[in-house]
Amino acid sequence: MRVSTGLGSSSDNRMFTVVVESFGAGPQRRAERVMTVPFQQLQSLMQTIAQKGGRIKVVSAGDGESTPPASAPAAVSAPTPTPTPSGPKAAVSHADVPVNLYKPKDPFIGAVTGNYSLLAEGAIGRVNHITFDLSGGRLHYVEGQSIGIIPDGVDAAGKPHKLRLYSIASTRHGDDTNDNTVSLCVRQLQYEKDGELINGVCSTFLCDIEPGAQVKITGPVGKEMLLPADEEANIIMLATGTGIAPMRAYLRRMFDAEERAKNPEYQFRGKAWLFMGVPTTPNLLYEEDFQSYLNAYPDNFSYTKAISREQNNASGGRMYIQDRVLEHADEIFALIEDPKTHVYMCGLKGMEPGIDEAMTAAANAKGLNWAELRPSLKKQERWHVETY
Ligand code: NAP
Repeated sequence: MRVSTGLGSSSDNRMFTVVVESFGAGPQRRAERVMTVPFQQLQSLMQTIAQKGGRIKVVSAGDGESTPPASAPAAVSAPTPTPTPSGPKAAVSHADVPVNLYKPKDPFIGAVTGNYSLLAEGAIGRVNHITFDLSGGRLHYVEGQSIGIIPDGVDAAGKPHKLRLYSIASTRHGDDTNDNTVSLCVRQLQYEKDGELINGVCSTFLCDIEPGAQVKITGPVGKEMLLPADEEANIIMLATGTGIAPMRAYLRRMFDAEERAKNPEYQFRGKAWLFMGVPTTPNLLYEEDFQSYLNAYPDNFSYTKAISREQNNASGGRMYIQDRVLEHADEIFALIEDPKTHVYMCGLKGMEPGIDEAMTAAANAKGLNWAELRPSLKKQERWHVETY
């Protein structure tokens, strides 16, 4: 299905509202749904709706003009109201967040449905995106949580391996938006001990795993990294390496066309700013997705990279994300002063002191004291840290 070119050009930056029937799963399918997307995502949304048997009733431009889609059935005569922005909403209610649905003594057994490398040619190490089927169980989760994986086999003492926690990289709907998968972003841990190369037990198990394999999964756990329900919140994300996992889920929830179609109650229109630290360009993770969000939502998404072994900071050292934070300190501070702004940090524990130093310098420049401000942000549930 093609969208009439009368709706705009490829440089069109208007938002479009699509009203659809018979789309989605379960009770959602019976209800009429209203979705708002930028012009660049309109085509793919309409394709998705067509593939899933949905019936498009109206496509209306952000300026209020109402146009039936080229090959859609007759449009309803009344213009469809664009959803009105809701007022600020509190962070997700912690009581509603699922935890420990499966415990280590009785884990869920999920089959691997996919396992592929996220790295480009010339990257350092191994980082894979691995998806598990959750069908037939009770395991569900929200963005920002983690699951436990119990690798097969036994440890040096002959006991079953203990579980390892991994941040979930998919949204609650899963990568195919069918509500029955969970995905992880896993780097194979490798280090040297007494001159010998040691491979991490669980990360190697996961990176090597074949589709169809049955894996013991526990959880979900974690309430530190939950996204606020407020569609107008500002979300600053600081990630190193595989610490991108929860951010990838947030960004899909915010900007992926199918995700937006699944979540009429969450049509993100705040500002999302991702700071991503990796050693080399081929180590960038989910780069194509992030570039597509930049194209589709230039006013809502900013993306700043620190490529440590290719770029230098102001003192000639490796470029880390705290150096980027310092470069943008004024803008970041202006955002933090807005009570709708949340900061999320995930990845290497080593970045924490550097981020604190950068924030201290930025606060000082404004006559503020970061040592006082940080605990207050934490108390307001606006400063979220999960680092290993
Ligand atoms: P990686 O690919 O090695 O990339 C990490 C990047 O951070 C590199 O550019 C690295 O630079 C840089 N870096 C090193 N030291 C730093 C410092 N002190 N401050 C700021 N940046 C620094 O990353 P990775 O191997 O995926 O590691 C990610 C880490 O995050 C792992 O330790 C993992 O356990 C953890 N993690 C935590 C969670 C969680 O808590 N939920 C989730 C996922 C991952 P150079 O190497 O060039 O110096």
